[in-house]
Amino acid sequence: MAAIVLRNIKKSFAAVSVLHGIDLAIHDREFVVFIGPSGCGKTTLLRLIAGLESPTSGQIIIDNEDVTNLPPAARGVAKVFQSYALYPHMTVYENMAFGLKMQGWRKKHLIQERVQEVARILQLESLLTRKPRELSGGQRQRVAIGRAIVRNPKVFLFDEPLSNLDASLRAQMRLELANLKAQLQATMIYVTHDQVEAMTLADRIVVMRDGMIEQVGTPLEVYNQPANQFVAGFMGSPPMNFLAGIVVKTSQNDVGLQLPSGLCIPLPALNIAMGEIITLGIRPEALSVSNDAPTLHPEAISFTGKILHIEHLGAESYVHLRINEQTLIVRTSLHPHVGETLTVTTALAKCHFFNYEGNACSGF
Ligand code: ATP
Repeated sequence: MAAIVLRNIKKSFAAVSVLHGIDLAIHDREFVVFIGPSGCGKTTLLRLIAGLESPTSGQIIIDNEDVTNLPPAARGVAKVFQSYALYPHMTVYENMAFGLKMQGWRKKHLIQERVQEVARILQLESLLTRKPRELSGGQRQRVAIGRAIVRNPKVFLFDEPLSNLDASLRAQMRLELANLKAQLQATMIYVTHDQVEAMTLADRIVVMRDGMIEQVGTPLEVYNQPANQFVAGFMGSPPMNFLAGIVVKTSQNDVGLQLPSGLCIPLPALNIAMGEIITLGIRPEALSVSNDAPTLHPEAISFTGKILHIEHLGAESYVHLRINEQTLIVRTSLHPHVGETLTVTTALAKCHFFNYEGNACSGF
């Protein structure tokens, strides 16, 4: 059992405050991904859990034990970092056996059994006599993971473990990690910049910004119900489209969101004041191309604009549509042409709304 609880963790380096009070409960055997912009404090938080840094204040509990002041070796955690940190003069076998020896394993045949077992899981059996320089990037990363696994830790900490690999190896290792997750049944914390890794590997995603947690949720919760405009804009590629408007009373005496393009969108919300600035968010895939005239259906919104630019990705394209002073990105399997006029439609139910502070508006 290795649930992890972080209580009001703060961390400063000299006068610079990096983490401003992190509260988080990670369940036993959960795979949690920390994601956020560069410098938001993901690695620092991971290093605090590992015991490589001490928090300025707050508590770290692993498996019901307060480990805040324990050294790394006493925490039952294993780390796999971006730089594989393998010992260059040791073979793959020796690299993996080393951690066991450091843990006090003395019986050679037991060490051999354990290393062989892990080598089998990671398909490293044929590479055990090689030195790290004789391995590919993916193989080195597997050895680094193997070195962590042999010790049978309660918690695995991964810091961008795949970022040195090329795209196809990353995809392969991602699958291998997903399999490992099922086999190892350990608690895992994984830091990444990569949204695909976060979405595909995580049981829950922790989105961070500037030393704070913006949202914790399953991948689909974070994607479909972002807590605020930051999370909405950060998760998703291409990013969500944002159009700011002003809340007005429509001619039918309903509440509407008046966009600079002149379009007024019906707002089904009750608790918003006239004149308030609200930002409409629409994911590129929520817009579908229709060459009909702009629809007046109350549950749908249409935008018509000129195509400025198209990014062709083969199976689909990202179309940049100019609507007055704003640009909408539309994800489509159609292949229109630059300069054409295009009408795109979305259902009101697929729209997100954010208030002036950037928080998601409820009640829509
Ligand atoms: P990245 O995604 O770029 O790796 P990150 O989210 O992991 O970034 P951290 O590495 O945790 O961010 O760094 C958070 C902030 O803390 C940064 O502004 C960084 O400069 C600062 N920082 C980290 N370690 C130290 C240190 N030892 N001394 C001073 N400042 C530090």
